[in-house]
Amino acid sequence: MSDVKVNTVLGPISPSEMGVTLPHEHIVFGFPGWEGDQTIAPFDREGILVQALELMEELKALGLRTFVDATPNDGGRMPEFLKEVSEKSGVNIICSTGYYYEEEGMPAYWKFRSSLGDVKDEICELFHKEITVGIRDTGIKAGAIKVGTGKGEITDYERMMFEAAARVQQDTGVPIITHTQEGTMGPEQAELLVTAGADPERIQIGHMSDNTDIRYHLETLKHGVSISFDRMGLQVLAGCPMDIERYAVLIGLIGIGYAEKIMISHDTIVQWLGRPMNIPKEALPLIADWHPTHLFKKIIPALKQGGVTDEQVQTILQDNPRRLFGGG
Ligand SMILES: [Zn+2]
Repeated sequence: MSDVKVNTVLGPISPSEMGVTLPHEHIVFGFPGWEGDQTIAPFDREGILVQALELMEELKALGLRTFVDATPNDGGRMPEFLKEVSEKSGVNIICSTGYYYEEEGMPAYWKFRSSLGDVKDEICELFHKEITVGIRDTGIKAGAIKVGTGKGEITDYERMMFEAAARVQQDTGVPIITHTQEGTMGPEQAELLVTAGADPERIQIGHMSDNTDIRYHLETLKHGVSISFDRMGLQVLAGCPMDIERYAVLIGLIGIGYAEKIMISHDTIVQWLGRPMNIPKEALPLIADWHPTHLFKKIIPALKQGGVTDEQVQTILQDNPRRLFGGG
């Protein structure tokens, strides 16, 4: 395993160089359709660069070494921009290949093609090339495969993406990170990916922090995958529970022996593409902590107060992401 390399936007690194890692965040993200609104809301490259670099400085001072950007191909992914942020900040950034879930993604292209014949091989070809050769003509290689499902079901389109992700995971060794919607389909995603041949050690089921039913977590974990509490600080909005409820689940799972299967992140976005989000004023206090520094400022102290040891914190922040990306 010593020759395993992790694709960052600046090139390959050893998994041991990842250090403290935020396993699911975004620098820029835009729902499909934002491109059509650029007359009103153009991409402010310089402004967003300043914001992203300020954030990276803050995170570096808190010990962060690696930032996983989980933006899929249909979420406004900008690998060259991420490369510039990484070059100027010194933080490792890993970008993704893959597609968002059907309802909020951009499924028309692949759905139309699949009406004329099976396109799973084409999707595999795309994921594989973005991991092994690069994205478009940038030479920047994706380091993770991102796929997702909607609320309460896995559609045919999403199943196709998951099966393609599993095949390319097997071929390349690159991990799969997922989006689940409103705390549903975690166990089903894990089962689907493992059945389709993906290595459970390279699967991170995402947004598990959106469900506080301990049985949901145990049902997912029994497939051998990692689970990611990666919407910390995002409360009530998007169907999310409160952090205090999440701490109870996290501390409980760690307490019964799952420290090696848990990751923590926030799913924050430095800048939404398109017009600013009009978040209702009354909701702002609920998301006051929804920031990539939340882990360091409040979550770790809360876990420690609940009996989680420094060693277990280290496992979650550093060892688990490294193992997900193929490091021993
Ligand atoms: Zn995300």
